[in-house]
Amino acid sequence: MYPVSLSELIEEFNKLPGIGHKSAVRLAFHVMNMPNEKVEKFIGAINNAKTKVHLCKKCQNLTDKEECDICSSSKRDKSVICVMESPKDVTALEKTKEYNGLYHVLHGAISPMDGIGPDDIKIRELIARLTPEVTEIIMATNPTVEGEATAMYIARLLKPMGITVTRIAHGIPVGGDIEYADEVTLSRAIEGRREI
Ligand code: ZN
Repeated sequence: MYPVSLSELIEEFNKLPGIGHKSAVRLAFHVMNMPNEKVEKFIGAINNAKTKVHLCKKCQNLTDKEECDICSSSKRDKSVICVMESPKDVTALEKTKEYNGLYHVLHGAISPMDGIGPDDIKIRELIARLTPEVTEIIMATNPTVEGEATAMYIARLLKPMGITVTRIAHGIPVGGDIEYADEVTLSRAIEGRREI
């Protein structure tokens, strides 16, 4: 129906999350109508993001520096680490401006059903960060079966080390996603955390 190169572009857009065939066609035609320099800028942005963004050596969040802005900030409370599943969760909590500690991004949760064990997420990297300066770990994984299992696993691992492990309060609906929680709910969940 379309020239091969255009069909290929449609197909690539179609592979993106949330983009159906109709949207893919619309986006591909939009690109066709873009001036060349805008297309170059777009390709450059994709390339730059992909080559320059990597994981912070400390918290495993996405950054284009060796150490992210939060880890290297002198204003953050380095005695508390909030453990979250994804970089998007960190962004959500940062937006509330209620939390001033550090973060650790696991990049997933333990899920035996999907073959994801403790070694497949960034738990080892979390343990490696635990200096005597760290006194509290807030488990802010999603309130799903996997998120709860991950919180319990890490709590059990850290308790013998004498670190207080807390779990965020349930204002976040069970089965819900922290990423989509509103700011008030998320702030309250952090405030109402309890020891586990
Ligand atoms: Zn960092």
